Amino acid sequence: MSQNVEQTTENFRKLVQKIKSYEEALAVMYWDLRTGAPRKGMEARSEVIGVLSTEMFKLSTSDEMGAYLDALTEPEANERLDEINRRTVAECKKEYDRSKKIPAETYQVYVVLTSQAETIWEEAKHKDDFAMFQPYLEKIVAYNQQFIDLWGAKETRYDTLLDMYEPDLTVRKLDQVFGELRAKSVPLVAAIAESAHQPDMACLQQSFDKEKQRAFSLFMLERMGYDFEAGRLDESVHPFATGLNPGDVRITTRYAVDDMANALFSTIHEGGHALYEQNISKDLIGTPLCTGTSMGIHESQSRFWENMIGRSRAFWNRYYGDLQAHFPGQLNVPAETFYRAINRVQPSFIRTESDELTYNLHIIIRYEIEKMLFNEGLNVADLPEIWNEKYKQYLGIVPKTYAEGVLQDVHWSGGGFGYFPSYSLGNMYAAQFMHTIKREIPEFDRLIEQGNFQPVKAWLIDNIYRHGKLLTPAEIVQNVTGEPLTPSYLIDYLETKFKDIYRL
Ligand code: ZN
Repeated sequence: MSQNVEQTTENFRKLVQKIKSYEEALAVMYWDLRTGAPRKGMEARSEVIGVLSTEMFKLSTSDEMGAYLDALTEPEANERLDEINRRTVAECKKEYDRSKKIPAETYQVYVVLTSQAETIWEEAKHKDDFAMFQPYLEKIVAYNQQFIDLWGAKETRYDTLLDMYEPDLTVRKLDQVFGELRAKSVPLVAAIAESAHQPDMACLQQSFDKEKQRAFSLFMLERMGYDFEAGRLDESVHPFATGLNPGDVRITTRYAVDDMANALFSTIHEGGHALYEQNISKDLIGTPLCTGTSMGIHESQSRFWENMIGRSRAFWNRYYGDLQAHFPGQLNVPAETFYRAINRVQPSFIRTESDELTYNLHIIIRYEIEKMLFNEGLNVADLPEIWNEKYKQYLGIVPKTYAEGVLQDVHWSGGGFGYFPSYSLGNMYAAQFMHTIKREIPEFDRLIEQGNFQPVKAWLIDNIYRHGKLLTPAEIVQNVTGEPLTPSYLIDYLETKFKDIYRL
């Protein structure tokens, strides 16, 4: 028996390794496509990506995989496995079940539909025409309703979609945490708008040379401890990070002459994602556990570096002089003026351009709408009206066009329902982690002020990074902070920070 389990485990791990190899090859190709692959090669490249993706899908849903999973989930066999193998089996089984429950033909049709829908969405956004996109979105929602039936509804139907991005997250939990966050954020945003102490934005409203921006991005990544022998920085239209394996984690950013802050904080954000992936334990290489544990925890790491460190006063007390030196003669205001400018709060229509405080309200609106679509029978046709009502209610503004309203994000055209909450979960996890870090490293602020990130990075590696997907998000939060996810740390952090900046 034992001999048998060992052999089966070995064969299973070989198959998993093979799937991971396809995955890594595909990830390099996607990176290449988005960072300057020649246009004329794109069509052929898409074919290659199609072939490799299909092969990978076949392997992960093969009879061979099914047989290994059957054998290794048998209780006697399962308890003989070590932790890494046991979690690898569980992860593959989850994927296998999800994929197997959808008939292959249905899935094919859905893939074609979403790829068409993305093109139509782009055009509809450009022409500001919701009616053009509506029939596609209706079909995508209907398919997802069908998938929920096939996968099985959890506590509520929308829970089944949430679980794809944040394992075990429920509407019940999100209603509670988002409810509290919304209740505190809405009046704070309103009070800020009334404040007589608005930041002076002039220091950011100038032209900043792209090469100098690039030099400062590289300087910042080095200070953060990003390992350039295990990664590289390139440019792309939308910044992203891609972890091929811990020894190769690449990031991109985007430089705009009239928006230096954008590139700077995008770089730090993606750098945060990359530090996570570069520091996952080598023991997990070749398994599906060699990645961040969830979208929400991943986002907590990028936002921790971007906002809680990168937009802090302590950080700019240390680095403002370096920034000035990179742009001679351009930044003549005091560090405090710059600090307040990069932290301006102002209700706006576009999620990706919003500030640290209003950002969560953009997310909560999307969450509430998705929940209505899947749990409460909201019609796609009524989305624009609901969207505008909620923007009016929470942010006090009403979009004048569909493009700056309901059509602004790409996610729904690809069927990415359940994804949005991850962004705000990231903010909540980050604040909760920071509360614990400050308890365990009381000199936190002084270290940041000295530009010494080493102790903080070591803490993150030990408590979060190295575990990869070996622990679930809920386990990490509980183990690290001693309690489950709670919104109160983010609320405290936001209130303290912005009441100080706006002198409320
Ligand atoms: Zn991110």
